[in-house]
Amino acid sequence: MNTKEIKEIYDQYVIPNYIRNPILLVKGSGVDVWDAEGKRYLDLFSGWAVSLLGHCHPNVVKALQEQAAKLQHAPNIYYTEPQGILAKHISEKSFGGQCFFCNSGAEANESAIKLARIHNSNAGKYKIITFLDSFHGRTIATVTATAQPKYHKGFAPLLEGFSYVPFNDLDALKKEVDDKTCAIMLEPIQGEGGINIATKEFMQGIRKLCNEKGLLLILDEVQCGMARSGKYFAYQHYGIEPDIMTLAKALGGGVAIGAMTARKEIAKSLVPGSHASTFGGNPLACAAGVAVFETIEKEHLLENVKNMGSYAQEQLKSLQKTCKVIKEVRGVGLMIGIELSVNGAEIIKNCIQAGLFLNCTHDKVIRFMPPLNVKKENIDEGIAILKTILSKT
Ligand SMILES: *Cc1c(COP(=O)(O)O)cnc(C)c1O
Repeated sequence: MNTKEIKEIYDQYVIPNYIRNPILLVKGSGVDVWDAEGKRYLDLFSGWAVSLLGHCHPNVVKALQEQAAKLQHAPNIYYTEPQGILAKHISEKSFGGQCFFCNSGAEANESAIKLARIHNSNAGKYKIITFLDSFHGRTIATVTATAQPKYHKGFAPLLEGFSYVPFNDLDALKKEVDDKTCAIMLEPIQGEGGINIATKEFMQGIRKLCNEKGLLLILDEVQCGMARSGKYFAYQHYGIEPDIMTLAKALGGGVAIGAMTARKEIAKSLVPGSHASTFGGNPLACAAGVAVFETIEKEHLLENVKNMGSYAQEQLKSLQKTCKVIKEVRGVGLMIGIELSVNGAEIIKNCIQAGLFLNCTHDKVIRFMPPLNVKKENIDEGIAILKTILSKT
């Protein structure tokens, strides 16, 4: 089928809750994606940071093919090897906790919220503080946690027990804590909010506050985790550890999976019967996750993130000198935001037409999040296209 034919089917049968580009994608390989008419696109956005190793990385493909032919689903009343091994990787690369698996970022955060509440239920504490411009998902609990009014519109009443303070404002946070507060939840690097980086002082201050007041620190690393920042997890730049951390997006290298990991003393509050997910931790998705961890090691991707991250930031900062619409370039590793002085929607449309996938968030911030194995020439090609388009704006 061609683009027009599929578009007609969508118009008839798919709920129009997304603004879609009129492009029918049919295959991908590495940083490249092709549409039904054979046009190639350079993907430096990775579909919201999902395609961590590029499209269809051979190790992920192999893991999926082998596992698909062996066992695809097993209920969580049995054991499977991929779930155990993936939990071990997450634990060993982070803070030695235990994992619960689900299928998306929202569910991972939903699990974290439920764990924070059940763990504090005897103490009668249930309030969670989150930060302006955060993004935690679209279920009622996680959209309530998401402190952006535009995502709340029309869904009242929201869940009780959430309040919001400005990001990087420790004094405002301290004032918001009361005797019903059980947790503080944040992204170390806000993604949807426009690539806003928590300061060291802020993160360390939150950890200290949590210790003093007996609060849980929940870090949402759904977007900034999985080596994108140049360390396995973004919190590792701050010399602190969370009590609970959530992952999804890149964890399966392109396959749907979510995970929550928590310190053992806290994790044990999630007793049998308290929480579950039918598909959570299924062998197919977990096999892909194991392949992702193995590939990050084998291909020395942490090193590549550091090198290519600083290269991309340098190139973008030098572009800024000739492009007056660029206000600021900021980021950590390969999670980079290019803040414009104008609305970016049209610019992104033009980039896509010119064969470059990027994204604009928070109206004015272009997100540059290529796969971790991106090469200099891919970055050069992408920036050249962006430069041409920005020079016409
Ligand atoms: C995307 C995202 C989520 C939600 O993930 P879904 O898989 O879309 O439910 C949660 N938190 C952050 C930081 C995200 O970027």
